[in-house]
Amino acid sequence: MESLRIASKLPKVGTTIFTVMSALAQETQAINLSQGFPDFEMPEALVRLTTEAMQQGANQYAPMAGWLPLRAQIAQKIYNLYGTDVNPDTEITITPGGTCAIYTAFTAVLRPGDEVIVFEPAYDSYIPNIEINGGVAVRVALRFPDYGIDWQEVRSKITSRTRMIALNTPHNPTGSVLREADIAELRKLVAEHDLLIMSDEVYEHLIFDDLPHLSMLRYPDLRARAFVCFSFGKACHCTGWKLGYCVAPPQFTAEFRKVHQFNAFSCFTPAQVALATYLKDEQTYRSVPALYQQKRDYFAQLMTQTRFEPLPSHGSYFQLYRYNHFSDLNDRDFSIWLTKTKGVACIPASAFYQDGTDHGVVRFCFAKKNQTLEQAVERLCDLE
Ligand code: PMP
Ligand code: GLN
Repeated sequence: MESLRIASKLPKVGTTIFTVMSALAQETQAINLSQGFPDFEMPEALVRLTTEAMQQGANQYAPMAGWLPLRAQIAQKIYNLYGTDVNPDTEITITPGGTCAIYTAFTAVLRPGDEVIVFEPAYDSYIPNIEINGGVAVRVALRFPDYGIDWQEVRSKITSRTRMIALNTPHNPTGSVLREADIAELRKLVAEHDLLIMSDEVYEHLIFDDLPHLSMLRYPDLRARAFVCFSFGKACHCTGWKLGYCVAPPQFTAEFRKVHQFNAFSCFTPAQVALATYLKDEQTYRSVPALYQQKRDYFAQLMTQTRFEPLPSHGSYFQLYRYNHFSDLNDRDFSIWLTKTKGVACIPASAFYQDGTDHGVVRFCFAKKNQTLEQAVERLCDLE
């Protein structure tokens, strides 16, 4: 019998570059600076609190919207950081990771033909998330090499079908961050065209050089239009936990939860119980920017011994580097070559563009032990 086939709803999509490069790193025993995750341990206190929660029986379904004491603690954290009151009952939903929060936000809003402004390079889940909902991603390239937003170009791409704008600050893969001038443009634009916002702020605590994180939650007019998505994986060095949350106004949250309840329904209970206690100590999150800035600076200083040229990174786990002054390879071939022959895995920046725009730039993840960074850079010094 002929085997059954389904027509792909995502015909252009293959396996994510993060999966491909991490697998190659493993196969070749390379040092993995490709996929973004820490190679150091998550906080012992959080492991202990989670173990205790399990021992004390917090092992059944959490409420659909999330463990209420955790949502209350998130509201407190948002108040401490951004001076905004958020209602834990009606405006916060705990999700299986930032990725699922983003998917749920798009799914709650988009109807076939709705257009969403997406800046490229873009985190790889946005466009497939939009397209599987019948939406259309309207791509706007960030300016190379500073990866700022050209607001004139954004305006030129707005049509009567534009429904949403997708933002990511601090930005993966470039490490660029939104500035006050961007916020001023954004405020005018969304008001004029009545747009909604999906704001991916999973790297809120990974911001450097004393720059403030300009969360949508700081601005009442932006917050009123936004689904703001966060990740405990990044904040607490446990990407494998896949736990995040979405903050949105009550009516948006009600629609968000209609999707969430029939997709995830609820998330891993012990971790939610543990985080509700862990986050009471503000230092647990206030200490994160300095930790990662130290990593960024240490990696940048080590990399001066190599031929790679850095592009600025003000946030996230990542730093982009140019290599095209010493190699003619395209960035995918270069990344594979580097992994196989030098034993250091990275991510080609072209993977973040639908049309494969290649500026001769690769992404390294510096969320690693100093020793890992030292060993990687030692290998990268040896390039003709
Ligand atoms: N957005 C961006 C920009 C990311 O880099 C990541 C990291 N995977 C996510 C969302 C997803 O976060 P999570 O692992 O919590 O799903
Ligand atoms: N956000 C991580 C990165 O950019 C990867 C997450 C994933 O593998 N999906 O490397």
